[in-house]
Amino acid sequence: MTPNGENLMVILSSPSGVGKTTITKKLQQKYQNLKISISHTTRPPRSNEVDGVDYNFVTKEKFEDLIKKNKFYEYAKIFGNYYGTSKKDVDQTLQTNDVIFDIDWQGTKQLSSFKNLNLIKIYLITDSKAELKKRLLKRDQNTKEEVEKRFKSFDEDVQHWNDYDYILINKNLDICFKQIEQIILNNKSKKFNFFRKAQ
Ligand code: 5GP
Repeated sequence: MTPNGENLMVILSSPSGVGKTTITKKLQQKYQNLKISISHTTRPPRSNEVDGVDYNFVTKEKFEDLIKKNKFYEYAKIFGNYYGTSKKDVDQTLQTNDVIFDIDWQGTKQLSSFKNLNLIKIYLITDSKAELKKRLLKRDQNTKEEVEKRFKSFDEDVQHWNDYDYILINKNLDICFKQIEQIILNNKSKKFNFFRKAQ
């Protein structure tokens, strides 16, 4: 089955380290019918990541086979690894839920080309590059080299702000969370169904 455009697909993009994973997880905890899209990736798992929960970790061969078989809504090579969104998984989840995506600008562009999808595109930034570097270093999940790669991609990333419906500055996590929550609720109320709050 393909999406009927009723349920929302919320894209949350940002340079690495701006806090989108924290916000995404908080949203899912609060709203039982908002599910996080679990991407496929060829990146090796970090020590705190679980296969099938944070990502579906696959080999390069497997990923390239899925590309050939047209199994992705979108995919991109980022920092030398593939990342992609499975059509089957998303279509299934969208039947009964709204879905939130933590994907980059390349994936956002590709998803935008599907006209039957009910997309909300949000871009999250920090108020300064210095703050971003601080967060990346503090995160302590990346090697120094990975931190540099992610930091350098900032300039490229921000050139794609125009592709988004909303640009938010994450100066304060709670405020930013509320802003995103409000954007989603406003768009959802336009579609008749309000979110069901988690028990
Ligand atoms: P990380 O390696 O830090 O988990 O993610 C690196 C980047 O890949 C982040 O900007 C994240 O948003 C992006 N990303 C994660 N999954 C996907 C995906 O399925 N598609 C695309 N295009 N980007 C993704």
